[in-house]
Amino acid sequence: MIPYGKQSIDQNDIDAVIEVLNSDWLTTGPKVDEFERAVAGYVGSKYAVAVSSGTAALHAAMFAIGIDTGDEVIVPPITFAATANAVVYQRGTPVFTDIDPDTLLIDPKNIEEKINSRTKAIIAVDYAGQACEYEKIKYIANKYGLILVADSCHALGAEYRGKKVGNIADLTVFSFHPVKHITTGEGGMITTDNSEWAEKIKIFRNHGITSDHHKRKKDSSWFYEIKDLGYNYRITDIQCALGISQLKKLSSFLKKRHEIAKIYDLAFEEMPGITPLHVRDDVFHAYHLYVVKCGQDKREKLFKYLRDNGIGVNVHYVPVHLHPYYQRKFCYVPGLCPVAEEAYKTILSLPIFPEMSDEDVERVVDAIRCTIGAKR
Ligand SMILES: *Cc1c(COP(=O)(O)O)cnc(C)c1O
Repeated sequence: MIPYGKQSIDQNDIDAVIEVLNSDWLTTGPKVDEFERAVAGYVGSKYAVAVSSGTAALHAAMFAIGIDTGDEVIVPPITFAATANAVVYQRGTPVFTDIDPDTLLIDPKNIEEKINSRTKAIIAVDYAGQACEYEKIKYIANKYGLILVADSCHALGAEYRGKKVGNIADLTVFSFHPVKHITTGEGGMITTDNSEWAEKIKIFRNHGITSDHHKRKKDSSWFYEIKDLGYNYRITDIQCALGISQLKKLSSFLKKRHEIAKIYDLAFEEMPGITPLHVRDDVFHAYHLYVVKCGQDKREKLFKYLRDNGIGVNVHYVPVHLHPYYQRKFCYVPGLCPVAEEAYKTILSLPIFPEMSDEDVERVVDAIRCTIGAKR
């Protein structure tokens, strides 16, 4: 079976983890700071705070910017449910706005009509690994005094007009799940230039406790206070050691993803009815996903044939507003985001991950060619 995504772990990663297991700190130790500094340095942000998952990172971001009852946050419907769920965790309302049909990214044209006095923030999702149209989105955010959060869980290493994702929005969120660019098993990170938000998130990930155990030890004090409701969203040193080791290989991982995408691009130029998503020329794509649009009948046929032949294709994503929970809780109905709903019927994510061989890629291409009856 060729999966759609998969981690790459080598001996250096294993050694890094074992070193931590033999050390004094399994959690809340020096590797957490080191991983945070490494990611902040890589994306060019002033601060980075590591947490237990990308979802926890999104939740922490919503907490930090003060989302609460009655607040609205604009989100695209073609994303992992966690993007919108994080708004709901903080009692806010996710307001879905339609996407661009060619890139499936949030369409800046549609944002303004969703803004009202309750709107507090926009979450831009760098779907598949392509950076959103940040200049246009930032212009709108500034015009209405909204906070811009980037869900860049697909886009570590991606660039917009020469600038790395992680250093463009007010807050950026990453995930280190095994299918993502680098992994810590489970893990996430928030990057920002805002010291107040970074501090709030550090407290939030530790139950809302305002003085950490290092500080208590230094001040020889037992005192601590809960100022806000927080969670246990800590990440371990074991995970962070893996993250530090993985980050060193990110540029080679990205290179490999680009090579695979190139083979797909060339193959589909000749194949009628298989259209890769449009890639704008002002981005460096991180290719978390390689998505093609192929027409509804073809999509069902391709999905079945490829799965039956050991090729792990997938559909990213069911539009979030169509999930039963969202329909029930917010009374969202089909038709709310027609472009997203139409695109959803035709998209297919093909396998792409650094350890995929050229033969694996050819196998996928041949299977698609076979299914749609195209000639070589
Ligand atoms: C993976 C992902 C998340 C959640 O990350 P986890 O680490 O799995 O919690 C959130 N948003 C998007 C777009 C993702 O792809």
